[in-house]
Amino acid sequence: MGTMKAWRLYQPRPAETSPLVLEEVPVPEPEPGQVLLKVHACGVCHTDLHTVEGEIRPPRYPITPGHQVVATVEALGLGVTQVQVGQRVGVTWLYHTCGQCDFCRRGLENLCPRAQFAGFHADGGYAEYMVAWADYVFPLPEAVDDVHAAPLLCAGVIGYRTLRVAEVQSGDTVALFGFGASAHLVIQVLRYWGNRVLVFTRSPKRQEHARQLGAAWAGHPQEDPGERVDRALIFAPAGEIVHRALQVLRPGGTVAINAIYMTPIPEMPYDLIYQERGLRSVANVTRQDARDFLELAGRLPIQTTVQPYNWRQANEALADLKVGRIVGQAVLVME
Ligand SMILES: [Zn+2]
Ligand SMILES: [Zn+2]
Repeated sequence: MGTMKAWRLYQPRPAETSPLVLEEVPVPEPEPGQVLLKVHACGVCHTDLHTVEGEIRPPRYPITPGHQVVATVEALGLGVTQVQVGQRVGVTWLYHTCGQCDFCRRGLENLCPRAQFAGFHADGGYAEYMVAWADYVFPLPEAVDDVHAAPLLCAGVIGYRTLRVAEVQSGDTVALFGFGASAHLVIQVLRYWGNRVLVFTRSPKRQEHARQLGAAWAGHPQEDPGERVDRALIFAPAGEIVHRALQVLRPGGTVAINAIYMTPIPEMPYDLIYQERGLRSVANVTRQDARDFLELAGRLPIQTTVQPYNWRQANEALADLKVGRIVGQAVLVME
């Protein structure tokens, strides 16, 4: 079917050294049950940064990163009836699961030991085309255009799972630690539900962004907000933040950590977690999370803050993400 351009990672290296290589490769063929997708936009996520820099290692190289993919269906593999050619769909981090293990059967396919992730086990969306399983692509809300839809697919969906894992209830006051791609979508869901939100971030620019999106309070992580919170969600991969989140948490509250990678959590006194405070991590997403969140995102409708890059600037986008130069979400836009 001809060739296409794709960004490939041969070996992990620091983002500022341009680790991705743009290559001409064959357009992939969809297997039975798969679809060929023409990529329109692809979000640039911290997980991509962890992949290119080697904090997490895919099972094979080279690999094409990218797991927040907005695309149209270009061709169908054998037996595909769930989607049509020309339909706009999104791909998330969850590329495939076994469907048979205890986790898959209990609605915890995000924990499937045989789960495959887009742009990690399989080539992702930093390319003109990719293949995906028809059962693992999702229709996107019509109210949101391609570039603004990309952040919904990882930052949004996993942020939504973080709200679920933290068991946020109506009336809860919720603290967000870190205010990047995921948190700026989570705050909109929380405000829609009527929750009070406090935002902890070092960056004055992001504190301002948080206030614009309805934060009741925004300040430096070491500042005292003058109140305790019912839930705290952590979006910064820094272990010491866990202490700070537990310090502002009321007894019986929950801290949920949204990170695939985190620096070690320093030793802590038992008092920090005593009185039934809970500490949970969030791993991956389920298809139900994606369906529920995308439906909600269309209903709000959610506003995503994006920093678009021509897709030929994938290395620049990753380097900018590394140094915290992105407000909202970096998105690669195809030509
Ligand atoms: Zn991601
Ligand atoms: Zn499974």
